[in-house]
Amino acid sequence: MQEPPIDQLIACPKCDALHHARHLGENERAACARCGTLLITPRARSFLHVIALSFTAMILMIAAVFFPFLKISAQGFSHASSVFEVAMAFSDGLLAPLSLAVLMLIVGLPIVRFGALIYTLWPLANARPAWPHARRVFRLAEELEPWAMAEIFIIGTGVALVKIGGLASVSLGPAFWAFCALIIVNALKNAFLSQWTIWDAIGQK
Ligand SMILES: [Zn+2]
Repeated sequence: MQEPPIDQLIACPKCDALHHARHLGENERAACARCGTLLITPRARSFLHVIALSFTAMILMIAAVFFPFLKISAQGFSHASSVFEVAMAFSDGLLAPLSLAVLMLIVGLPIVRFGALIYTLWPLANARPAWPHARRVFRLAEELEPWAMAEIFIIGTGVALVKIGGLASVSLGPAFWAFCALIIVNALKNAFLSQWTIWDAIGQK
């Protein structure tokens, strides 16, 4: 049997099963035959979804950083603070690099990633050729993905809350819920995002 050329093959990102790739019609989508992972999406519509969800995620991120995250009350005193205030509290002295790292990993990287996705997909969703350096920008978005740590942050906060719970009464502010919404929006965005479709669209002049 003759092997098909390599640019007509697509490997499932989850289970590595190889499939023949082809361009789909407007209402078709392709999923892995073995594990069901989404492989190829119809172009314009899925790009619009990813752009819309990236914008939503950016707005939620701003709310999550600047709105009060936690309110702690004990013996008549209470204090509410946002993620930004907490990070700034350590902004001088030995812990300064730590607070910089916290802000970068929780806030900076996801925002750069959302921005990179919007930059890559905006012209493609409008059926225009990709903007300059779209390849490099999209590769950056791909490389940043494992570093986006909002989920880990929420789990860490949950663990800390259980620990403090015995000492003071803790209530969650709007920023906590913004973070939770952010995680859901992010998962939805990943469900619409097909790397193959995006690379294929960038590659076409
Ligand atoms: Zn698969």
